[in-house]
Amino acid sequence: MEMKAAVLYEANKPLAIETVELDDPKDGEVLVRIAAAGVCYSDYHVMKGEWSMPKPVVLGHEGAGIVEKVGAGVTRLSPGDHVILNFRANCGHCDHCIVGRPVLCDGIEAGRVFMFDGTVRLHRNGQDIHHMTRTACFAEYAVVPESGAVPIRSDMPLDKACLIGCSVMTGLGAVTNTARIEAGSDVAVIGCGGVGLNTIQGALLAGADRIIAVDLLDNKLEYAKEFGATDLINAGNGDAVARVRELTKGGVDYAFEVIGNPKTIIQAYEMCRIGGTTVIVGMAPENDIIEINALSLPRTERAIVGSWYGSARPWVDLPKLTDLYMRGRLKIDPMISRTWRLDEINEAYQTLAAGDVARSVILFD
Ligand SMILES: [Zn+2]
Ligand SMILES: [Zn+2]
Repeated sequence: MEMKAAVLYEANKPLAIETVELDDPKDGEVLVRIAAAGVCYSDYHVMKGEWSMPKPVVLGHEGAGIVEKVGAGVTRLSPGDHVILNFRANCGHCDHCIVGRPVLCDGIEAGRVFMFDGTVRLHRNGQDIHHMTRTACFAEYAVVPESGAVPIRSDMPLDKACLIGCSVMTGLGAVTNTARIEAGSDVAVIGCGGVGLNTIQGALLAGADRIIAVDLLDNKLEYAKEFGATDLINAGNGDAVARVRELTKGGVDYAFEVIGNPKTIIQAYEMCRIGGTTVIVGMAPENDIIEINALSLPRTERAIVGSWYGSARPWVDLPKLTDLYMRGRLKIDPMISRTWRLDEINEAYQTLAAGDVARSVILFD
């Protein structure tokens, strides 16, 4: 079939909005009509050349839509199912999958810009086009592996559901799945974009006491307050580490870094009290290095852990978060600062880069 997609041919060049060909789903794959896709910073890392990825490529990893067609052997999805895309589609039978850590799945050799069989379904004028994270949802339709489309209840609005697929899961899961904070914990969150707001929201749901939001932009700190932050620190007005240590009399139990910057990762570590845990959620450019005093780790028993996609078990967590939203206990609407059409996607990314929005969403219907 033919459809409209945003294609990245070269880093630091605008995405081309053009008509491309999409093959039918093969064995174990499904065709999803995309209803909405979130404008996330991870795609922007690829656009700027900070993360390498074969090109041309259709980006987009935070999507929701409706299954149109299923390939042979698909048993868990049917046409008409409403789904959130899971950008860590997994094999289901490697060690990581079996122990319940599907995000770490290493059971498929093909790179995550190909389907499981190592080929692509996207083409244009005889040229193959890659699928970012096997989701490629900056397009009207996407073919994804069965495990990459998680069914949700049909009364969930899809323009909100898409954000559960990355920012909500990543931010909230860092608190509830990765760190598993205890009620009453003091928490600091550095970076209050879409994922950071959900880290704050997760800390609130998990019963944190103090939730300290740190950012350089006052508009983001206002969002943080709305999502549950108890204290706001503009890191541009003085020493954020000293301020956090002062507010908490020695440091927080958990510090979440949600930017992906070596400088703020070290700040997060320094904001932790003795015995505390620093959780790295932010995704840095791929060659960045952090330097931390080696002796301070054993002497203070502070832990540094990474959190990838909120340590998600997507087939369990994405429907659970959907239920939480429908019950009125999960905020998504205030995150959506504005919506766009697919042909405005380059402007959407300029707005994201300027820090003007919490999150914005591309609508297809
Ligand atoms: Zn994302
Ligand atoms: Zn696996």
